[in-house]
Amino acid sequence: FEPKGPRPILKLHQDVVNRIAASEIVLRPAAAIKELLENSLDAGSTSIKLSIKEGGLKLIQITDNGHGINRADLPLLCERYATSKLREFKDLSSMRTYGFRGEALASISYCSHVEVVTKTREDGCGWKAHYSDGALVPAKAGAGAEPRPAAANDGTIISAEDLFYNVPMRKRSFKSASEEYNKILDVVTKYAIHNPHCAWVCKKAGSNMPDISTPVDSTARANISLLYTPSLANELLEVPLTTLKPEMLDAKCRGWVSNANSSWARKGGWMLFINNRLVESPKIKKAIDSMYTAYLAKGSNPWVYLSLEMDPAKIDVNVSPSKAEVHFLNEDEMIQAVVSAVHDVLKGANTSRSFTVQT
Ligand code: ADP
Ligand code: MG
Repeated sequence: FEPKGPRPILKLHQDVVNRIAASEIVLRPAAAIKELLENSLDAGSTSIKLSIKEGGLKLIQITDNGHGINRADLPLLCERYATSKLREFKDLSSMRTYGFRGEALASISYCSHVEVVTKTREDGCGWKAHYSDGALVPAKAGAGAEPRPAAANDGTIISAEDLFYNVPMRKRSFKSASEEYNKILDVVTKYAIHNPHCAWVCKKAGSNMPDISTPVDSTARANISLLYTPSLANELLEVPLTTLKPEMLDAKCRGWVSNANSSWARKGGWMLFINNRLVESPKIKKAIDSMYTAYLAKGSNPWVYLSLEMDPAKIDVNVSPSKAEVHFLNEDEMIQAVVSAVHDVLKGANTSRSFTVQT
């Protein structure tokens, strides 16, 4: 029936709140992967391996060799707003870790079945635990929910099974597992290029042919060669670590960018890290693209990998739950400064040979 007057206002049950928040953070399998691999990097891992079933919708499994999780912390691991990284609001302005909201594992546990196996270097044995809706659950009916001792290597294995099993609308929105898998490869590729000290593997579960495989202690350029093509890696110009001008910006930039009329140019590529976080910044991309139009044939696109470092106090990473968007001070000056740093490299590379700027 249609009520005549206003309906009473009631507080949503906490579980409903958490499930709504979860689908906002875990938009798709690749978003869950991004959170999980950031956790592995935060844990100091030098090896991160991913195994994926059906584009991540059936299974995401990530194995790292990081510092592991203490047994005593396992009950809180998947609880929302539980974190080992942030203690006080004021610390947000000096965060050096990827995580701080304590929402990723919680969100994943609200829309999939989570299993964790972890072992710290100090612990004699590992621990295995299962989670659902933020809390420990028994592995099977009749068993206890407490973590059980388990054989394990140092580090952590997190498995998320049946993503969105309880969010049918979201689940139906994924048309193709291979499209989701490609998005996963894209995220892992970018993190592997930006974190070449770590060895990366990504494969479909059951396959012994990894789609991504990089050695430990590699370099950005070597990983670009492995994950894109050797010819692209050879063509790229290095943007050496540059202090952006004017100096009051207090920011540095480095990266690898394609040269004028590079043979890769048609397809292009774009990845931007700000304080090591992979972010979307349509404004910076647009500014760089338009600077390149003077150097590239029509219909060509630059391949650009840039890493910006700025004072964490000047950047707001807390704009969106997925942290994909960031806001920072002096945005327009900063963008101009980045463009001119890249432009200097392009100009430098192209003054030595006869080169005509396209108009
Ligand atoms: P956040 O990263 O914002 O703290 P998460 O939900 O991603 O929140 O993770 C919760 C906590 O679980 C982290 O603070 C960390 O202590 C622990 N954790 C998660 N993944 C790992 C991992 N791979 N290795 C070690 N600790 C982890
Ligand atoms: Mg995290």
